[in-house]
Amino acid sequence: MSQVKVPVVRNILEANERLAKANRTIFDQAGIFAVNLMSSPGAGKTSLLEKTIDGLGDRYRIAVIEGDIQSSYDAERIQRKGVQAVQINTDGACHLDGGMVLEAIEALDLDGLDLLVIENVGNLVCPAEFNLGEHHKVMILSVAEGDDKPLKYPLMFQTSSVLLVNKIDLLPYVDCDLEKIRQRAGQLNPRQQIFEVSCRGGAGLDAWYAWLETEIARVRVNRG
Ligand code: MG
Ligand code: ZN
Repeated sequence: MSQVKVPVVRNILEANERLAKANRTIFDQAGIFAVNLMSSPGAGKTSLLEKTIDGLGDRYRIAVIEGDIQSSYDAERIQRKGVQAVQINTDGACHLDGGMVLEAIEALDLDGLDLLVIENVGNLVCPAEFNLGEHHKVMILSVAEGDDKPLKYPLMFQTSSVLLVNKIDLLPYVDCDLEKIRQRAGQLNPRQQIFEVSCRGGAGLDAWYAWLETEIARVRVNRG
């Protein structure tokens, strides 16, 4: 069975790589910094986006691609903030792929856009395997999920440039050792930047905004 399965999986990933490259070319030529935002369900992706729009929306033009298995609830939350949001309903699929994002890009007005955040489907497994053309993968882990997640989902940690540890306001009430997260994530990906934040209260978000601003500036110089 594995003799059949392996080439098929490779073909899917290769086809995805080509589409991801096409997306990346679009982002680079337009000078748009693109982030692939991943986490398990409920870790705070949409809340982080709302806060980020509050924090940077007056200085940067932001758009969001919302990946969800069903419903447009999150896209509506984002639109209420006054930024462009395109919904991708994956129709049951548990991750976004390059082709879905390419379609969503075509529905966006890219003119003058500084930052595009692609909110992936809530899942710590296969989203890490599918490049979307983003400049960086960013993941959120909430402290309510515990400190063992780097051990269980190493690829997500290995591929993400940034780890946002969210809901730190809940630390007194949950069984989670921040030092263990830092240690375990650091072993998997020594270059990963870790920001400890609370999207509810806003703690720690300045470091995240500063990281975004640096990356936005780096990509924006390409704009013709
Ligand atoms: Mg969401
Ligand atoms: Zn999947």
